[in-house]
Order: sequence, then C-alpha cells, then structure tokens
Amino acid sequence: MRHIAIVGSGPAGYYTAEAALKQWGDNVRVDIFDALPVPFGLIRSGVAPDHQSIKGVSRRYEATAKSGNVRFVGNVMLGRDLSVAEMQDLYDAVILATGAPHDRKLGLPGEDLANVFGSAAFVGWYNGHPQFADLAPALSHDTAVVVGNGNVALDVARILAKSEEEFAASDIVAHALAALRGSAVRRIVILGRRGPHQVAMTPKELGELAKLSRAHPEVDPVDLPDPALDARLDTGLRKSVALLRTFASGRAAPGTDAITVEFDFFAAPRAILGDSRVEAVEVERTRLQDGKAVGTGETYRIPAGLVIACIGYQTSPIPDVPFDEQGGRFANVEGRIAPGLYCVGWARRGPTGTIGTNRPDGFAIIEKIAADLPDGSGKPGRPGFDALAEQRGIEVVRFTDWQKIDEAEVAAARSGAPREKFVAVEQMIEASHRG
Ligand code: NAP
Repeated sequence: MRHIAIVGSGPAGYYTAEAALKQWGDNVRVDIFDALPVPFGLIRSGVAPDHQSIKGVSRRYEATAKSGNVRFVGNVMLGRDLSVAEMQDLYDAVILATGAPHDRKLGLPGEDLANVFGSAAFVGWYNGHPQFADLAPALSHDTAVVVGNGNVALDVARILAKSEEEFAASDIVAHALAALRGSAVRRIVILGRRGPHQVAMTPKELGELAKLSRAHPEVDPVDLPDPALDARLDTGLRKSVALLRTFASGRAAPGTDAITVEFDFFAAPRAILGDSRVEAVEVERTRLQDGKAVGTGETYRIPAGLVIACIGYQTSPIPDVPFDEQGGRFANVEGRIAPGLYCVGWARRGPTGTIGTNRPDGFAIIEKIAADLPDGSGKPGRPGFDALAEQRGIEVVRFTDWQKIDEAEVAAARSGAPREKFVAVEQMIEASHRG
C-alpha cells in the first residue's frame, strides 16, 4: 500500500490523484489537502465567473473524489496546521500542487497606492476567494488601466466591461456584482509592453471582447505590423492578430459603445502616480529590439483611478521547501524537490498553459514516484493524519461536507445563476454542518 498526500485540490491535484488511481488502483490511498474548506482551486477561484463551460471540468474531478481510495481533506493548510516534515513522516510521497496564487509585483514606484491591485487579488475578489472578499476596489473613476497582454488581462477587462444582464448565468459573487452595477468605469486601457505579434491572448478569449453588449474594443491601426508578416505566426496567434486587425478597423463595434476597451501597445508602465490613491499611470512608449521591449524615452500619462496588473503569478512559498525565487515556483528537477517530496502543475513549472496541461503533468509525476518508490514504505497514511488532526483540534472538511456547502450555494443562487458562493471560511464550515 502506498500513502500519497497531494497538497492543493485544483486541476493539478485532481489530475495527479486520477493518475495515482490508474497506476496503483486499490493499492493506493490518496489524501488531497486544501487550505480552504472547498475544493477545485483555480476552477472555483481563478476561472472567470462567466466561463461556466470551463468550470464544467470539475465534474471529472468529482468522479476521482468519489473513489474510496481518494479523500478530500479540506480546511488544512500545510505550513500552518502541520509542517512538511510532519506530512512526510505520515505519507510515502507528498506532492505539492499548490498552483501559483500569488501576484508578481510590477516593481514600480507607486505600486502600493490604494486601488492598485494584482490580478490574483482582483480575480479573487470577483470570484469570492475568502482572502480577497474584502478587497473593495473603488470603481468610481471613469478609467481603469489593465497591465499585461495575457488571457487574465482579457478576463479582467471583460468583467469590468460587462453589463449586469451579461452576468446572469455566471457565478460572480454578489458583492462584485453590486460594485460593478454602480461602476463609473467607461474606459479600460489594456497596456502591452510589446506589440500585437507578441500577445499571449488566445482567439476565443479575444473574440469575446467583440461580443459585449455595451463595450467595444479599439486598436490603433499604427500599432499593427505589416499583414504580410502574419504568415510567420503560429495558427492561434495568427487568429488573435486577425481579431486585433478587425478591432482596428472599427468593424467590431456592437450596437452601443458606452465603454471602450483600448489596446495600448508598445506601452510599458513606469510609475503609478497619486497621493494616497492612484490618480494616473506614467507610461513609456517602447519599440521592439530582438523581441524585447525597450523604452524610447517618450512618456505620457493616463489619468486612471484603478490599476490591475495582470502580469503573471507565483507559487506561495512553504516553510522548509526550497524555492526558486526567480521562477516563482518550488525549486525542482522535473517535479522532484527532495526524496519523497514532489511538485506538479503551476507549482512545478510556473503559471503557463491551459487547465488540460496539468493532466499529462499529473501522470508524469506519478510515473516518477512509481520509479522512486517501487514499494510502499509502511508509513501510517490516513489514520496517522487523522490522529494528528484530532490531537491539534483541526476541523477537517471532507468531500461529503463540501457537497453540503455546494448544495447550500446552489440553493442560494440568484435566478439563472449556477450558485451564490460563500465568501468566508466560517460560512462554508457552518454550511458543512447543515442537514
Ligand atoms: P501570461 O499569459 O504569462 O501573460 C502575462 C502578460 O504580462 C504578458 O503579456 C507579459 O508581457 C506581461 N508582463 C509581464 N511582466 C510585465 C511587466 N513588468 N510590465 C508589463 N507587462 C508585463 O499570464 P496570465 O495572463 O496571467 O495567464 C496565466 C496563464 O493562464 C496563461 O497560460 C493563460 O493562457 C492562462 N489563462 C487562460 C484563460 C483561458 O483560457 N480562458 C484565462 C485566464 C488565464 P511579455 O510577453 O512582454 O512578457
């Protein structure tokens, strides 16, 4: 028998559990830990609330969760409730699947002014992550600046631009919906330090900007490279650039245009300006040199009352686990951190790729563990953890408890919405005690 602990119940965690079941069948017991009382990590707290079809992947994780050989162990945080050494004493292998829930810093003067947020915080706010539920961004200025040219920048811009009706079938949380209802934001500027050929935006996500009921995207035609050069791009990027060309031609404008989403390319933020709260962003015009953005010396200011940096994420360090500061992830060689200690998904390779990329990752790490540990080592596994939790008075939330939380959230949904999420840990635990 092998006892495996997976820390993190997002896509990387559940795909790894699925792989462990395939590898060892009834000869494995997997405990999937999560610091929150609710599972599915990025699917619940990261994927945009209006992307419900993507969230449907959690049904696949449910099938894994319901196997008797896999347990959800919620409301337990590694590094707070027990140490890595303690967990390693209990399980043959500990696999960190903690994702990358932490914002990378811009490293600019003024970054700490009020109403400047990283995307982990802002996305966490509208998705009801307990850590960010109280963020209370002020949406009182007519201009918001979104920094970055990836899919998260698109998510954030789209959420700021949508009308209340467009959130009808989403699970955006009530506090965010109320704030957006009263929002004064009418101009959303997406800053890209490089150009249209360097965007990290995928066509489906970019195309959504052209289908909004009261907003339209704008691209300055002078920023577009010679169309003949598009042929060099891979298919996905070529499609994205084709969409940017339609945005520049004005053909994407829908019926109303109360809100503009402006792409400002070759524009690197240099400082966030303001007294206590952001009042403007200082930007330097750039040009490309060997594929990199270099400043031209020309600067300008964008008056703005809200700045959201969507420039990528990092893994949160865990005490006693070697960390690669530059890569923003655990120091590892192909997922191996130390004997018996592994990492997978964004915690291994950084925040890139789609949700599905985590599946091969999960299968690969289980193959490595099978090679490293051909036999179980006789460690205590589940009963050992249960004894420790009891001794420490940790209130563990099981998958059946989550199902009660889930039911309560679904029952509380606004008409047409899939659920109304609890945004505080205490509310989640209270709901898990119902019935
Ligand atoms: P990303 O794709 O890595 O994009 C980050 C962007 O930030 C890049 O445009 C980058 O520009 C820019 N950037 C980085 N540092 C900067 C700085 N100091 N100043 C200005 N710009 C800076 O990251 P992401 O948008 O956070 O997305 C993370 C992953 O999740 C991606 O794989 C993404 O596709 C995925 N995702 C998918 C979906 C979806 O499929 N619906 C939704 C959300 C996220 P450079 O290129 O110049 O470095």
